[in-house]
Amino acid sequence: MENYYLYINGEWTGKDLETFEVTNPATSEKIAAVPNGGYAEARKAADAACEAFKSWSDCSAYERAELISKWHKLIDENKEDLARTMTLEQGKPLKEALGEISYANGFVSWYAEEAKRVYGETIPAAVRYKRLFVQKQPVGVIAAITPWNFPAAMITRKVAPALAAGCTVVLKPAEQTPLTAIKLAKLAEKAGLPRGVLNIVTGRAQEIGDAWLEDSRIRKLTFTGSTEVGKLLMKGSAETVKKVSLELGGHAPVIVMEDADLDKAVDGVIASKFRNAGQTCVCSNRIYVHEKIAAEFTARLVDKVKQLQVGNGLEEDTDIGPLIDEAAISKVARHIEDAVEKGAKIETGGEVLEGLYYSPTVITGVNDDMICMNEETFGPLTPVATFKTEEEAIARANDSIYGLAAYVFTENITRGIRITEALEYGIIGLNDGMPSTPQVPFGGFKQSGLGREGGHYGIEEFLEVKYISLGL
Ligand code: ADP
Repeated sequence: MENYYLYINGEWTGKDLETFEVTNPATSEKIAAVPNGGYAEARKAADAACEAFKSWSDCSAYERAELISKWHKLIDENKEDLARTMTLEQGKPLKEALGEISYANGFVSWYAEEAKRVYGETIPAAVRYKRLFVQKQPVGVIAAITPWNFPAAMITRKVAPALAAGCTVVLKPAEQTPLTAIKLAKLAEKAGLPRGVLNIVTGRAQEIGDAWLEDSRIRKLTFTGSTEVGKLLMKGSAETVKKVSLELGGHAPVIVMEDADLDKAVDGVIASKFRNAGQTCVCSNRIYVHEKIAAEFTARLVDKVKQLQVGNGLEEDTDIGPLIDEAAISKVARHIEDAVEKGAKIETGGEVLEGLYYSPTVITGVNDDMICMNEETFGPLTPVATFKTEEEAIARANDSIYGLAAYVFTENITRGIRITEALEYGIIGLNDGMPSTPQVPFGGFKQSGLGREGGHYGIEEFLEVKYISLGL
């Protein structure tokens, strides 16, 4: 078994600490033991990141870009190993894990380049004897807390722009998936990242989080995870007035208009719904189909869903791996039970299989009182509801406290634009079930979060604006 330790100030530490187990959700086997760090380790990591900030922020953007590019090259060279580690600890099919490594590494290369484009501004003064300048500077030390559903991409999407901007980072990966994170840090070390620039602390979430929240030297918190924990961290950040970026829950609607290309719509729903077994915050969670085409759409959808192979992610033909834990299984089961009690019909699936597997499910006869139409299921359930008018579809899609991703299928471009403009969502797939890519802004409206990750927007989150007035 490979060794996994904390990475603090360029050293692999925590060998004397108690450990917690990482298990493979496909088999429930223990795959590693990782140090169970807490407050003291979190403090040490923050000390290291503070010290390292002095020289890292002073490097030229080109020097930082070169190191980040080396990290990118090493991630690429080690993608098979990283993907396998991810499948083992997280469960997603190997082909998806490889896709995630490539997506994750896309942020690394994009921000290596973007480091060189942190431009300032000169603003015309109202008087002749002044010159007004604006500069961008790194925010400082960043605390990053990441979830288990994208064990690599949620790290690089935060760390790459932070490093590019000149910030140093303390990071806590999810307790379910620390191994991919540690391997990414090993590659960063190999790339020559100076000590203390990136620190990884695994262990007791709340203690580590509290240590960083109360630390006034940490100037920004960036978090991806549940809305509940996001709110706690936002409150905790108030005391030291940290900047906050939050990428929280979603409850993505899909609107399929009567003029949609049905094959495109079905493929789009499958892509957005069943990726990672339905465990992504942009997974379509509720489908609204125009009543005229609902029967045909459902028949084609059910046909495709029946072909999805459930199994261990390491097996080549697997489309859907296990869910992350028992709680995830119970949640899907509860949503289906509730829908069936309220009149829904199971078209396919609806079964808890052995272990942590749940059969991909489609239900019809769905109404807005069902839990699945109001809460994020985070599993392989597709509820199909019908609507009569465009206005009704938009109103029902917007009737949520969340506003992360939404999908629209129509072949009428005017209608498509009209609907996308009316939707209160940060990301819209118009005839596209997979809108995410490194160069675009990712983030939500309403209680889905604050700030944007990706693209040139993503680096702004790690920059302070400084205005300098020069009197001549
Ligand atoms: P999920 O429900 O997807 O596991 P969570 O929001 O619980 O989402 O977890 C996302 C990340 O937040 C994980 O790294 C987890 O350890 C961390 N976390 C959970 N609770 C806290 C907390 N009180 N303080 C700091 N981090 C936390």
